[in-house]
Amino acid sequence: MTSDLLRLTVLGSATPYASVDNPCSGYLVSGGDTRVWVDAGSGTLARLQRHVRLDELDAIWISHLHADHSADLLTAYYAALYADIRLTAPIPLYGPPGIADRLAHFLTNTATRSPIESAFAVGELHDGHRARAGALTLTSRSVRHGMPAFALRVETEDRSLVYSGDTAPCPALTDLADGCDVLLCEAESDRAPAAEEQVHHTPEDAGDTARSAGAKRLIVTHVGPFLTPRQAVSRASTRFDGPIDYAAPGTTFPVE
Ligand SMILES: [Zn+2]
Repeated sequence: MTSDLLRLTVLGSATPYASVDNPCSGYLVSGGDTRVWVDAGSGTLARLQRHVRLDELDAIWISHLHADHSADLLTAYYAALYADIRLTAPIPLYGPPGIADRLAHFLTNTATRSPIESAFAVGELHDGHRARAGALTLTSRSVRHGMPAFALRVETEDRSLVYSGDTAPCPALTDLADGCDVLLCEAESDRAPAAEEQVHHTPEDAGDTARSAGAKRLIVTHVGPFLTPRQAVSRASTRFDGPIDYAAPGTTFPVE
């Protein structure tokens, strides 16, 4: 396995709704022949198809069930069952507890889960959940977003990428990101509310999390409507000395 195999492609990073040129949160993470769709925010299914067909995915991983991270699962379901896609097996789908029931209620008007499970092989996440997707190992930690929410570490034999999902700063994220090559961290908030009410990072928080974890590189994403990407990167750089980028839609970052 060579070291340049792990790649992050930003399908979208807008919050809390898609803009003209930026879908909501979604990423394609690839390593070798393995492709994982990480978060399925509004507009990301269209962008995903520039790179991979749904039936070529090895897994889908969903951080939490806010619509800006999961809404395109609804149309992916139609694609998987009622269109030109012919799945040889349901697509492995990892997400928060209750994800299958939530999809079933929206898509079938009943709690009957069987059509959902024809499209997706659902695995519910828990703190410390580990799964194998082809060449990649996926480790999930429960994080602090005021609802069931998870962060993700994707590893090959020698490279690692950590994605915060949506969360306030928390020890589980810092632990998960320990020594990672790339930390993809949200920077939603322009200012921090009281600690007990905080459910997102500020750019300074993203820099702090990257520094505390010993991440080699930081990519800020999910930059809220009251910040510009340039401000987010600049403010994060006051707390983290390593390279910092913004998760601009359409960008592919090799993890090296
Ligand atoms: Zn959220």
